[in-house]
Amino acid sequence: MSIMKKRILITGGAGFIGSHLCERLLKDGNEVICIDNFYTGRKANIVHLLNNPYFEIERHDICFPIYMEVDEIYNLACPASPIHYQFDPVQTIKTAVHGAINMLGLAKRLKIKILQASTSEVYGDPVVHPQPESYWGNVNPVGIRSCYDEGKRCAETLFFDYHRQHNLKIKVARIFNTYGPKMHPNDGRVVSNFIVQSLKGEDITVFGDGNQTRSFCYIDDLLNGLTRLMNSPDDFTGPVNLGNPVEFTILELAQKVIELTRTKSKIILNPLPDDDPRQRQPDITLARKALGWEPVVRLEEGLKKTIEYFESLFKKY
Ligand code: NAD
Ligand code: UDP
Ligand code: UDP
Repeated sequence: MSIMKKRILITGGAGFIGSHLCERLLKDGNEVICIDNFYTGRKANIVHLLNNPYFEIERHDICFPIYMEVDEIYNLACPASPIHYQFDPVQTIKTAVHGAINMLGLAKRLKIKILQASTSEVYGDPVVHPQPESYWGNVNPVGIRSCYDEGKRCAETLFFDYHRQHNLKIKVARIFNTYGPKMHPNDGRVVSNFIVQSLKGEDITVFGDGNQTRSFCYIDDLLNGLTRLMNSPDDFTGPVNLGNPVEFTILELAQKVIELTRTKSKIILNPLPDDDPRQRQPDITLARKALGWEPVVRLEEGLKKTIEYFESLFKKY
């Protein structure tokens, strides 16, 4: 290992994925600078890192320019759960687009590598299944999910234009539904919702008939994918799907959570939100080939760890 530590900037570093990435990159011997405006992120996610002299946190909104000297950027800042990104849709699209421009400008000035946390939402409600990177997607440009979906699509365009126009070294990861400890208990995402509802003995709210599908990736697997992508050869830009190809219906997920928490909670059916994708499964052929990566944590194993986290969180408060 080099004796020079890399200084790595993580935007959105106080969020769910970002805080895990801060830990991982510090453990790997790097210096980490985290930028976050704490819109959905929490101090609690990173408080244990504050005593580490190689860790810094700056409260900042990436919609505004920022000047600093770093060696690499992971751009993760953006609310990610439908409840949060729909709360202030204009702020969401500003973060996705203005935020990307500022981080690309920073990377361009410093001539450094920058990785974008894109999303499976760029495929919208996909008509190709499973989704390969070559699929252009089926996205509503004017719906309630558009601030996020179109914001992330525009960010991908910006990354590739900075790459072509300014020779910037870019990496674009299309992240599929990821779960694990440190998810926000109220962010309304399906895994955290079902676990929280089960632990509190509340009804488990399945939207629609529960036959829509998702493929759930455990956080540790995702971190391996993101760091492999960042360290891949410069000519590999992606976009590359990072997700677990094992697909479940939402009803199957609810039943698994009920079984693992041994809750008495009952499933109730609530209306399906607008534009909710019916199916989602990553084709990870490219990630396997280019990064030698595939997820190894089974849903049951990952759910157990996530349930333990929420149990300990509720004991604390
Ligand atoms: P999260 O909401 O937990 O984290 C996002 C972080 O960004 C938060 O700490 C938030 O405070 C911060 N943030 C938001 N707007 C900001 C701004 N303008 N300036 C500075 N900080 C800002 O979400 P997450 O699940 O950790 O997602 C991280 C990234 O990964 C997001 O870009 C998201 O789109 C992407 N992603 C996540 C998933 C998933 O399943 N979790 C799937 C696909 C893509
Ligand atoms: N930027 C930044 N930090 C930097 C360099 C640039 O925040 O270290 C911002 C800058 O304010 C600009 C954006 O990134 O709005 C895009 O920069 P770029 O150089 O591509 O565009 P220009 O400054 O020419 O508009
Ligand atoms: N969902 C659900 N009950 C909930 C929360 C979500 O049935 O309490 C469904 C939602 O309609 C969607 C799936 O679970 O079909 C995944 O939702 P999430 O918000 O986690 O992620 P996304 O829709 O962005 O994939």
